[in-house]
Amino acid sequence: MKILVIGGGGREHALVWKLGTSARVEKIWCAPGNGGIAGEAECVGVDAGDVGGLVGLAEKIQPDLTVVGPELPLVNGLVDAFAERKWAVVGPDKKAAQLEGSKIFAKEFLQRHNIPTAEMYGAHDSAGAAYGALCAVDWPVVIKADGLCAGKGVFLAPNPDAATDFIERVMEKNELGDGGKRVMLEEALEGEELSFILLTDGGRYAALAPTRDHKRAFDNNEGPNTGGMGAYSSDELLPAELRQTIERTIVEPTMKGLAADGIRYQGFLYVGLMLTKSGPKVLEFNCRLGDPETQAILARVNFDLAEVLSDAAAGNLQPEKLKWKPGASACVVLASGGYPGKFETGKEIQGLAEAEKIEDVKVLHAGTKRVGEKIVTTGGRVLGVTATGSTLSVALQTAYEGVGKIHFDGMHYRKDIGKLQQSSAAGD
Ligand code: AMP
Repeated sequence: MKILVIGGGGREHALVWKLGTSARVEKIWCAPGNGGIAGEAECVGVDAGDVGGLVGLAEKIQPDLTVVGPELPLVNGLVDAFAERKWAVVGPDKKAAQLEGSKIFAKEFLQRHNIPTAEMYGAHDSAGAAYGALCAVDWPVVIKADGLCAGKGVFLAPNPDAATDFIERVMEKNELGDGGKRVMLEEALEGEELSFILLTDGGRYAALAPTRDHKRAFDNNEGPNTGGMGAYSSDELLPAELRQTIERTIVEPTMKGLAADGIRYQGFLYVGLMLTKSGPKVLEFNCRLGDPETQAILARVNFDLAEVLSDAAAGNLQPEKLKWKPGASACVVLASGGYPGKFETGKEIQGLAEAEKIEDVKVLHAGTKRVGEKIVTTGGRVLGVTATGSTLSVALQTAYEGVGKIHFDGMHYRKDIGKLQQSSAAGD
């Protein structure tokens, strides 16, 4: 098989890594890839959001399967363009990707099918209407920009002043671009968060290993939200009873709801959940794998990923093929100084080879590039040091041992990945 992976972050490096272990895989391209991926696949300089460019690339290289990492190409209709040409691709089409592309579409879907979620107070397409609606909500209130906002579109407002400020920035100053043209106000939920990620062929589905990520920049869930500072996977995150409840009250009604609405959803579906006192409730859907959750999940793959993804693309997923390494895994993100605020790039990274020499450690690259013999930083999240172990504490210890070997100017990371069990609303 020849495979094209789309994207250039840690999630895509993890995909390339595991696809590359399959005996049936002969060649992998990655568009655009990064400095780490370049050691394991042929990187091609086409942007992940450029549907036309990617169609042109696939025409030229003719992959047997394309695996899409980020949401942008999905929301932009990449899968529709590939399906028209009968090219095998893993990912939902444009309509199905609206579950992530529009928070209001997702909320209406959840309400229509009686799937537990936070109560929506209202959806507004003018700042005036949104300000007006604030007099009828409970505090704190969650404000969500409707469209894709690179993780910046959700705000837990503690009071009317903070809410007004966010609405002004999003709807009047357009700080988040088109994604902020409409906003939704919803009830703030409390509890622990859990990601439930599944792979579906449009009919059957298989749950991936359970995982949790850490969104705040600093230890003890302090500091601003980030794209994710680390993640871990352990079966204990999802006891059998909770798994059954989630499948019965959330996943199965979602699959049935999609079918009833005439939406064929194929690919990865990420269900962000809040485990509230009155049961699991949906916070959000993502139409793709999470980052850095994918790094932790794929570290535990004990099956042929290329075969399973190819089955899913062909509408022939066999859930029993997905087998997971027992034990646990952890991914610690190493970020640039200043991230998630302003940061500098171009810093040389040292110690990568030493870290990778440690048994069970894999260093997945997110924001790096090769410059001659060197690897330098190019992004906010630079590396995800990933390890497996017989228990979560072994996996964490091994991952941090790997972290200890790596250095670049300004590097920062959380020292408490996998340690905090309780997370607060809109927090970790
Ligand atoms: P979303 O992109 O909708 O998942 O929102 C990002 C993060 O905001 C989630 O991971 C939660 O931490 C938080 N969040 C979203 N919706 C709510 C809610 N209704 N109540 C509390 N926290 C929320």
